[in-house]
Amino acid sequence: MSDMNSHPKQETTLLLVKPDGVKRGLTGEILRRIELRGLKIVGLTMITPKRDELDNHYPNDDGWLTRVGEKTLSTYEKYGYDAEKELGTTNPLKIGKEVRTWLLDFMTSGPIVKVAIQGIHAVEMVRKLVGATMPSAAEMGTIRGDFSVDSAAAANRDKRSVHNLAHASETVEEAKKELMLWFAANELHDYKRAEEDIMF
Ligand code: ADP
Repeated sequence: MSDMNSHPKQETTLLLVKPDGVKRGLTGEILRRIELRGLKIVGLTMITPKRDELDNHYPNDDGWLTRVGEKTLSTYEKYGYDAEKELGTTNPLKIGKEVRTWLLDFMTSGPIVKVAIQGIHAVEMVRKLVGATMPSAAEMGTIRGDFSVDSAAAANRDKRSVHNLAHASETVEEAKKELMLWFAANELHDYKRAEEDIMF
C-alpha cells in the first residue's frame, strides 16, 4: 500500500455502496461521481459481507458508540420524540450499542460494493462527495443529499439504522485500517489515469 501512496498528498480511501444504494441501482451514479471528480478507482468488487467483517469494520469503543447515541438523542429532541418512551433509555452509550446492532443487521441484509479510491486528499474528497451522515442534514449536490431521505429519529422508531447509501472512511488512519480489512493486496491495482499528467 505504501507504494500506492508515494506522493505525500496521494491517499487511498474506502467507499462502500451500502445495500440500499445497490438495491436502488445507484452504484453506477456513485462511481460516476467519484470518477468525474478526478479520483481514481483502484479496487472494485461486489460482495455479500459477513457479520464478523462488519463487526471488525465499525468501531466499538465507548466514544464512538456514545457519539452515535447522541445523534439519535439530538434528532429525537429536534423532532419532539420521547427517547425514553420509544427506546427505553436516554443513555447515549446504550442507544449507540443498539444502533450498532441495527447497523450490522442492515449492512448484512444484501450485497454491497466495496471501492478503493485513490487521489489527492482522497479521504476528505470522498467524505465531501458522500455528504453528512444524516440525509436530512446532507447538502444538495452530495450523494446522500441528492438521493436519500432519512433521519435517526425515523430510523430508530423502526429499530433500524439510517439508510444513507454509502460509507466513506473518515480519516487517513481509518482508511488504512478499512482497506486492509476489505481488500487483499492483489485486489488493488496500479495505473495512471490519462489526465494525471495534465492535472497534477
Ligand atoms: P458516517 O457513516 O457518516 O461516517 P457514523 O460513523 O457516525 O457516520 O455512523 C455509521 C453509520 O451508522 C451511519 O452512516 C448510519 O448509517 C448509521 N448511524 C449512525 N448514527 C445513527 C443513529 N443515531 N441512528 C441510526 N443509524 C445511525
